[in-house]
Amino acid sequence: MKHLFNVALKNYSTYRIGGTATDVYLPESIDEIVEIIRLHRAQGRSFWIHGGGANTLFPDGDMSLPIVSTSAMNRSHRTGNLLFAEAGKVMDAWVLDCLRGGLGGVECLSGIPGTLGGALFMNAGAYGQEISDHLESVTVLNADNHVVELAKTDCGFGYRSAAALRETVILAGTWRLPVGDPESLLNRRKDILAQRKEKQPLEFPSAGSVFKRPEGAYASQLIDLAGLKGARIGGAQVSEKHAGFIVNVGGATCQDVLDLIELCRRTVRERFGYELELEQCLCPSCTDKS
Ligand SMILES: Cc1cc2nc3c(=O)[nH]c(=O)nc-3n(C[C@H](O)[C@H](O)[C@H](O)COP(=O)(O)OP(=O)(O)OC[C@H]3O[C@@H](n4cnc5c(N)ncnc54)[C@H](O)[C@@H]3O)c2cc1C
Repeated sequence: MKHLFNVALKNYSTYRIGGTATDVYLPESIDEIVEIIRLHRAQGRSFWIHGGGANTLFPDGDMSLPIVSTSAMNRSHRTGNLLFAEAGKVMDAWVLDCLRGGLGGVECLSGIPGTLGGALFMNAGAYGQEISDHLESVTVLNADNHVVELAKTDCGFGYRSAAALRETVILAGTWRLPVGDPESLLNRRKDILAQRKEKQPLEFPSAGSVFKRPEGAYASQLIDLAGLKGARIGGAQVSEKHAGFIVNVGGATCQDVLDLIELCRRTVRERFGYELELEQCLCPSCTDKS
């Protein structure tokens, strides 16, 4: 397993923000990740599991919290319409393989950045599909350090959440996908990618939607109605194209993003009474004041 020292965090987040991580471990198999996590837990040390960093904000300064990245754990195989994939597999590449191979149920997830592990942790979804839709089971290292297989129904999937996976390390997933016609599935993918390009500010670094959709409203609409579209703090800006995104328009810091998040939450609360809940994950060191 590779162990990197003093790594630039901005290369590990689609926000392109972050200082320096003291330690990054890159396990290449399930056995290796289990070993490194058990070791950290035995020594009472915390760690941060990193997938693709497409939903993560890292701190500006040095970060001593070790990162365990799943990016080198990306084996997958298919038996009929049953698919197994390790957590570090890039989701969009996996989706494309599925569609080309005549398997559907995931075509609307086209273009979502990040890994399958991150997607399961977040229950990522778009255009009416979620990564959990055709899931059979998830293999995890649980809080008691045992490798167990959880049936889909035991994962506690909800909107952008998977309650029972929160304290686990996701190792792999197994899906049973419906069979479809590759040509029409790939055409649907093309439509979805075009819609994403039209609606999302893909020209700037970001980590997707900042807030979850509140009951009965859209976060982006509330932020827009509050007059915050285009609002800027330092290098962070509420996207002019999609007010649900905060984009890094150049040299944004973690603190710029945190301040802009707070401005959106406060203004929306005062104007409309909605409490916006974060969808994005703040690495714990982001809010350390020490
Ligand atoms: C341009 C853009 C568009 C986006 N559009 C969408 C969209 O349409 N729908 C959507 O749902 N999301 C969207 N996102 C957000 C993001 O792509 C998803 O949340 C994605 O699933 C995150 O995966 P990741 O591997 O990058 O997770 P990371 O950012 O690496 O991690 C996210 C969280 O999961 C945890 N985690 C990651 N891997 C594991 C693991 N193996 N075991 C345990 N915990 C783990 C991390 O610790 C962290 O808490 C978008 C992001 C961008 C940048």
